[in-house]
Amino acid sequence: MSVHLVKHTPGVIGVLDLQGGVHEHLEHLERLGIPYARVKQPADFADLAGLIIPGGESTCLARLLDIFELKEVILQHYGRGMKIWGTCAGAILLANRVVGEKPCLGLIDIEIVRNGFGSQLDSFKSEAIIESVSADPIPLTFIRAPKILRVGRDVHVLLSIDDYIAAAENEGILVTVFHPELTGCLALHRYFASKCGLNPAAENPSSVHQDWENVSWMKLARIAS
Ligand code: GLN
Repeated sequence: MSVHLVKHTPGVIGVLDLQGGVHEHLEHLERLGIPYARVKQPADFADLAGLIIPGGESTCLARLLDIFELKEVILQHYGRGMKIWGTCAGAILLANRVVGEKPCLGLIDIEIVRNGFGSQLDSFKSEAIIESVSADPIPLTFIRAPKILRVGRDVHVLLSIDDYIAAAENEGILVTVFHPELTGCLALHRYFASKCGLNPAAENPSSVHQDWENVSWMKLARIAS
């Protein structure tokens, strides 16, 4: 697997590299042939077509955004058209209503509740068809996931299960409460790349890759570090 950590080039998708599942997202972008970069300094955001805020711990990520003074930077680049995808903790940071807590970036009109399924032990896997994303079932991994309880008028629900919403978007923001980067499936990364106006490699099927293992990202971690 070749690594191309491209920086400052239009058409790049950045992964916020403060805490959480960074490598796993980079590995999925690599497999799709999308130029990618880890971003953590204000200058790293120049010309990004899209930004992924990974899962991790939203309180920790919010604190690091303050320490690294990145909140304003993200808002500015969102204002010039950079798209943003938040997975799990990332979705919490993007919500404009967080039950019992102050919102962080507030860029999408959703109400979200942290740890909506219970503790780490209540983490689980399932699968579902997300019609706008792929005709094939998409594997879903929920890790101490939040629940999206309701969405505003300008927000489109992509996946609703039981009493909660698992994926939604507005024009500039995509949120998923599950972790597509922890499965072999590229469908959501492909979908986000298209939302950013990029063309992911067409030949990769969106379903689970046979050569993918849940430690595949380690190959990338070894080469990149
Ligand atoms: N429970 C975490 C939080 O509230 C999110 C977990 C995750 O990103 N997998 O920040």
